[in-house]
Amino acid sequence: MALLDRVSSWEGKQTYFFRDREVLVTGGGDAARAEGAASCLCDYARTVIEDPRTGCIGAILSPDASLPGDCRFEPVPSYFYAHDDLENARLARLKGLCSWRAATRFCPSCGQPLRLHAVEDALECPACGRLLFPRIEPCIITLVSRGEEILLLRNAKDRLGVYACLAGFVEMGETLEQALRREVREETGLEVDDIRYVGSQGWPFPDQLMVAFEAEWKSGEIRIQPSEIADARWFRRDALPPLPRPGSIARRLVEGKWKR
Ligand SMILES: [Zn+2]
Repeated sequence: MALLDRVSSWEGKQTYFFRDREVLVTGGGDAARAEGAASCLCDYARTVIEDPRTGCIGAILSPDASLPGDCRFEPVPSYFYAHDDLENARLARLKGLCSWRAATRFCPSCGQPLRLHAVEDALECPACGRLLFPRIEPCIITLVSRGEEILLLRNAKDRLGVYACLAGFVEMGETLEQALRREVREETGLEVDDIRYVGSQGWPFPDQLMVAFEAEWKSGEIRIQPSEIADARWFRRDALPPLPRPGSIARRLVEGKWKR
């Protein structure tokens, strides 16, 4: 069905329209509704997702997309930090599905164009039957404690002076615990023990799953990896540095240290 015809069936649905690293919002700062936003879609939509699970519409708009009605574009991180877990899970899902669909057009086995699977969150190859599922990249994030002190790090790319928890991607074949021990060792030279799962968060920058842990310092002195880390130190509760924004799992880990 042509896009223009499909748009008429979206009335009342929540829309996540992305333009580069921004999302279209209404004047109130929430994701737009189809009736206000659809007018910009037909000329500018490059990838469209109609998601049966959330009932939401997602699309990637071309960079020259214009603004409908009282809408504006907002940076995805600002949106994320201003909303709750439920809304952020929807945003992460639609953003992830859109970028996956945009980047996955042809079958890696036989080169044929892929099509959406009728039931699964998947693309299928009509020629060889191969199924491709959305790619999620798991990251561990951990708050390391040494008694009443916590380890926080400033990333080498940070320009705001923010100190965060240690984080890194899980490598092929690793358990989450192995990834955590490796990342702590590589970035700070420390060994940790007593690893405890805390929670997780979909993190749409771009398609990650942050899996959060606490761990206890076991041995070693801080020796940073300068290519990744500008500074790493032990901090006490009464002398914390600038922290990641509320809403991030890193912030929750730090604040949870003295609540648990
Ligand atoms: Zn194929």
